[in-house]
Amino acid sequence: MRLIFLGPPGIGKGTQAKLLAERHSLAHLSTGDMFRSVISRNTDLGTFAKSFMDKGKLVPDDVVLGMVNERLREDDTASGYIFDGFPRTVPQVEGFKKLLKELGQFIDHVIALEGNDTVLVERLSSRRTCSDCGKIINLIFSPPKVSGQCDDCGGELFQRNDDKPEVIQKRLDVYEEQTEPLVNYYERKALLRRVDGMGSVHEVAERIDKYLINNILEE
Ligand code: AMP
Repeated sequence: MRLIFLGPPGIGKGTQAKLLAERHSLAHLSTGDMFRSVISRNTDLGTFAKSFMDKGKLVPDDVVLGMVNERLREDDTASGYIFDGFPRTVPQVEGFKKLLKELGQFIDHVIALEGNDTVLVERLSSRRTCSDCGKIINLIFSPPKVSGQCDDCGGELFQRNDDKPEVIQKRLDVYEEQTEPLVNYYERKALLRRVDGMGSVHEVAERIDKYLINNILEE
């Protein structure tokens, strides 16, 4: 099974994609995580990507497509995957289409998580990430037992530069301008399912699972 998760920043794509990937043994392919990983290794690609990410802008399409091309040739993607945060622009959709053709693959379904901007801003500004294990928590909905520390590994919790208030609105604007058109594109291809992304992690996961059980996993 090959899926794409679409949705604005803060909607919970990463959390839901990770849970679903674990439940169904799929590779979780987050282009944001891939960039954060090259940044933490101080590579040239990392320095380049960071200059866009810190401003809430998108990394150029050719760079993203090159990274996705390499990633899809790794063995763990053979039995299926979930893209989280890719594609994000029309040129990325076009490039991805060519790549899928080359690999003899196709996307089964696109899940679009939806929500309102006020909640998204609130979620993003209270989001913290563990510097050791990468776990994402929310200070309001799932506060850590010890302030500033990850419940799972004790690592230090930090706020991503792009989750700072001045960058959040820019990311939402970029989503609306460049990524939202993809929702209509996949809808026209009859691949899209809209899912309400508001509510608890558990509630949203149940909605996604219900849809998949009825429509995909039994195919
Ligand atoms: P995310 O973790 O998906 O919110 O991504 C964080 C940041 O990484 C984005 O704001 C972009 O700067 C960059 N990024 C991640 N995925 C892409 C992509 N598909 N295209 C361009 N930039 C991306």
